[in-house]
Amino acid sequence: MKEQFLGVDVSSYSYEQLKQNIITDIDQNKQSFIVAINPEKILQAQKDADLMRLLNKATYQIPDGVGVLLASKLNRGNISQRVTGIDMLLTLCEQAADHDKSVFLYGAKPGVADKAKDSLKEKYPNLKIAGVIDGYEKDENRIIQTINETQPDILFVALGSPKQEYWILDHMKDLNVKIFQGVGGSFDVISGRVKRAPDIFQRFGLEWLYRLVTEPWRIKRQIKLPSFLFKVWKDKR
Ligand code: UDP
Repeated sequence: MKEQFLGVDVSSYSYEQLKQNIITDIDQNKQSFIVAINPEKILQAQKDADLMRLLNKATYQIPDGVGVLLASKLNRGNISQRVTGIDMLLTLCEQAADHDKSVFLYGAKPGVADKAKDSLKEKYPNLKIAGVIDGYEKDENRIIQTINETQPDILFVALGSPKQEYWILDHMKDLNVKIFQGVGGSFDVISGRVKRAPDIFQRFGLEWLYRLVTEPWRIKRQIKLPSFLFKVWKDKR
């Protein structure tokens, strides 16, 4: 269930399939690692062999963003639905609430994960949130110890990319956690600190346009999309 773009694997699972896989992974005591893939990360991996290896080590590389969908179309692949990092996080919280699993929020500026916790509790009253730690805590041992003491099934890591992915891979073996997901700026959005694009933009896959207008410095990232698609097209030939 994977497709490859310029050497980087992307899974073609839908939310439905991922939902089932994750609960099975937890019940079978299997550690899984979810990473969101977008064109920017694929391009970065071209210049960084460690990053390429890291991305390909993940269990589920979710297709976050229209760029990956377009690349799959170019390659006549099967990825037809975006699976965004934040929607995956929300899906996992919903699943956790339904299946009596717990989650832990690690990352973002002090106070943000706490606010995200409150808003997740409001959305999913049955959700067990084992704990939160901000992303600027320096004491690695304290972080590991706190997470292990609270024994969450699912750990969301919001340190930005690729920092969070390196962190997950470096600490997976020390942590008594089943599912790891790198979630970037998701806590900022869930806490209400940063606004997500209105529904209409999301529905038409135009979230990038909204972000471009509200955070114009993102042009530096978005300008890379055409060159990414060209490289994918050339690579195929
Ligand atoms: N962050 C953090 N610790 C750090 C660096 C960043 O917790 O040492 C947090 C930051 O506060 C923000 C998130 O990581 O909440 C990065 O968000 P961004 O939208 O930049 O993520 P990306 O676009 O890389 O997925």
